[in-house]
Amino acid sequence: MLPFLFVTDLDHTLVGDDFAHDELNEWLLEARSQGSKIVYSTGRSLTLYQELAAEVPLFTPDLLIAAVGTAIYRDLQGEPDPAWSEKLQTGWDLEQVKAITAHFADLVLQPETEQSEFKVSFFLTEEAAMEVLPQLDRLLTQQGLEVQLIYSSGRDLDLLPRHANKGSALTFVRQTLGFAPEATIVCGDSGNDIALFSVGEERGIIVGNAQPELLSWYRDHRNPNHYLAKSYCAAGILEGLQYFGFK
Ligand SMILES: [Mg+2]
Repeated sequence: MLPFLFVTDLDHTLVGDDFAHDELNEWLLEARSQGSKIVYSTGRSLTLYQELAAEVPLFTPDLLIAAVGTAIYRDLQGEPDPAWSEKLQTGWDLEQVKAITAHFADLVLQPETEQSEFKVSFFLTEEAAMEVLPQLDRLLTQQGLEVQLIYSSGRDLDLLPRHANKGSALTFVRQTLGFAPEATIVCGDSGNDIALFSVGEERGIIVGNAQPELLSWYRDHRNPNHYLAKSYCAAGILEGLQYFGFK
């Protein structure tokens, strides 16, 4: 088996089917012993990642991409990678972003643990999103800010620096660890994972339980490097690994 870089989202992708998760864990640990690297890429902050790790059998990854690509941890007890944080500064002004979002009553701020230097997160209902998202985008642009709005699962809205997402963080990590795109596997289930699938030639596994926003993106951007699994969560990942010949 040639070494590869395995990058997976956690909630409803790696996590959600305990039986298949155990099987996948076993296989990943074996692959790691032969030089592969395992990276988790999650919308969760480090704090909420630790909570999940206490609940389900997640082994410690080689790297953690947290908070939708806005923080990269090589050491889960330490600080985010400063080289990555430096890259995110361009076009970002946290105080100005907060001031603009305060105009929208439908935006409900997520807990303090989910807010960071490079991420402002809200809950937003699907009904309100249709109206709020274009208005918010216009206001931010008018103020000269370079902000992306990432709406996932009909509930979570993340405002991030333009260059921060799971995809750009993946590229940074992939280059740091020295893997080719063809030797990289990415897995996800929701809107914030689209950036993982759209970054380049990586092999993408979309689990069978994927959210509508990712499924419609997949249908609109047909690509032989992407596989839509029939099975859910880790079972879908196992199915995709077989499809691409990694397993
Ligand atoms: Mg997910």
